[in-house]
Amino acid sequence: MPPRFDFGPSPRLGYTQSPINRAAERRTDEAWLAAAAADAGALAYVIGGEQIVLKKNDAVFGATFSFAEARALGGAAELVFLGLLDNAPRFGFGLDPAAAAALKGRSNLLVIDLRSIAVQGLVAADHLPPLAEAKALLNWHLRHRFCSNCGAATEVVQGGWRRDCPACKAQHFPRTDPVVIMLAIDGDRCVLGRSGRFAPTMWSCLAGFIEPGESIEDAVRREIREEVGLECGQVDYFASQPWPFPTSLMVGAHTQARTRDNVVDREELEDARWFDREEVAAMLLKRHPQGLTTPPPVAIAHHIIRAWLEGQRGNF
Ligand SMILES: [Zn+2]
Repeated sequence: MPPRFDFGPSPRLGYTQSPINRAAERRTDEAWLAAAAADAGALAYVIGGEQIVLKKNDAVFGATFSFAEARALGGAAELVFLGLLDNAPRFGFGLDPAAAAALKGRSNLLVIDLRSIAVQGLVAADHLPPLAEAKALLNWHLRHRFCSNCGAATEVVQGGWRRDCPACKAQHFPRTDPVVIMLAIDGDRCVLGRSGRFAPTMWSCLAGFIEPGESIEDAVRREIREEVGLECGQVDYFASQPWPFPTSLMVGAHTQARTRDNVVDREELEDARWFDREEVAAMLLKRHPQGLTTPPPVAIAHHIIRAWLEGQRGNF
């Protein structure tokens, strides 16, 4: 039987399939890290808080800088070792956010947020995973300068993958915050919602943070219950996506609704409702008569929705 809808080739999920070898075994070798930073082939992604600094080339934007180029942009508040690409070291060069903002007037640079870079395809797709790695890690450093156990200033060790407290000896590791993002399904219908932060026409999967002491499955069922008042049963894992805004991991799932009447939590959502398969397909294909849309292919929500329309399972 031919597929019911033809959406064309499946686009790559943003920030995934990193070409970087993280080379974690090198993080404890201070001499090796110092030599890597001095390596003529070392390249750095330059990030100041939410802003990424790109080079303006002729047609495409450059995502990486030599260390000399990066240092000329301002002093690094933090330097983190991302790993190796073709045996050449890659680093994240963390500028003070104010220093990055001050570069906005430069004619040879573009200072822009990572979402826009991804959605507009401003850099080669292989740069998105290391940019996500660098941005999430540097964000953690910006917010964890002091020990959460005793309040003393902490020190960066292991190439930026740990902060140690010299006073109480606590070791602090970079955090990742898991978020469930899911599509509740009832046969040929699914539930989409929209937040007031979305573009006016966009509808997406529901999502929420996994809480301490909670499984992915329980988080999926709880978030759906809280946001739209539906009870769900089986939860099928689909795929995951790093989401460095600032340090999330999106855990995508499909779930079977057991009840039909939805009650929208207006504190959380502007609206949510059932959509039938034909309408969602029109949204994904950008052919909806009222111009309603789904999120772009860079986001996992697009793939969760598309997989349901195509009857596919996760494969990333
Ligand atoms: Zn401490």
